[in-house]
Amino acid sequence: MSDAPYTLNIPAITHSKWPSRANISIVRGDLLHPVVSGNKLFKLLPFIQSIQGKSRTLISVGGRYSNHLHALAWVGQSLGIKTVGIVQGYSNQPMTPTLKDCTHWGMTIHYVDRETYRLRYLPSFWDKWSSLYPDPLCIYEGGWSDEAIYGSRLWWEGITHDTTMVICAVGSGCTLAGLCLSAPDRVTVVGVPVFKDPNNYAELRKKLSAKGVTSSQYCLWDEFSGLGFGKLDEDQRQFGQKFTLDTGIMLDPVYTTKVFYALHMKLAFNPALSDKAIAILHTGGLQGCRT
Ligand SMILES: *Cc1c(COP(=O)(O)O)cnc(C)c1O
Repeated sequence: MSDAPYTLNIPAITHSKWPSRANISIVRGDLLHPVVSGNKLFKLLPFIQSIQGKSRTLISVGGRYSNHLHALAWVGQSLGIKTVGIVQGYSNQPMTPTLKDCTHWGMTIHYVDRETYRLRYLPSFWDKWSSLYPDPLCIYEGGWSDEAIYGSRLWWEGITHDTTMVICAVGSGCTLAGLCLSAPDRVTVVGVPVFKDPNNYAELRKKLSAKGVTSSQYCLWDEFSGLGFGKLDEDQRQFGQKFTLDTGIMLDPVYTTKVFYALHMKLAFNPALSDKAIAILHTGGLQGCRT
């Protein structure tokens, strides 16, 4: 165990232009690291800061393609911190590229079945795993926590000062919340939910409000969830392919294809967007689409 502060070398965020739109900047969170997604790195940093100098075991959960576990394993390997991933799946399934990386980076994987995985929000779910490791710190799923919301503020370091609109994906909503809680007054924050919600995202709005995000601080472009979480409709799929051909920028099917498609559609129908200085966040996630 060392007393040295844990520091990660995260490079400065770079930008690309949206095709034939000088007013739109793509914030390249996908380039922060060759494989680890920017969004999940930011969300983990406050946890890392909270364990400075202590040799704790970081335990978390996720699916077999989880961007979150992938980032956690990389952080653990980079800093010499033991990591454990509780994965929904079965040990006789072929390892995904995600889990191969995680194992390679020293993460211990435990598989749980679907029924057990459903209980992951209960403290009792964690007791069993905590008891197996010294000084455990459990990190709830890639998701909703004050730490992750706080870490999401780091995106502002990559957003230029003249920006008047920021657009991001909404999964758990941490990124949106973190952006809103630290947004300069002149900026409108737009969230694009990537999952369907028959209740018009009432639950999401409630969660945000509980963290002090007021409804005037953001708007949702809520008609782009396609066929639901993880599923693209045909228009979105074709848009994604063409965008990559035109720009050389890869998009992941779960988050960024939907967000970029949303902006593409809004630009076609809302000329007022041409007057805004827009930053659209590429939150990464490309590791999850390897086969
Ligand atoms: C997790 C994730 C998101 C969603 O972020 P939230 O903070 O959960 O809303 C967006 N993009 C990528 C690539 C992600 O992995």
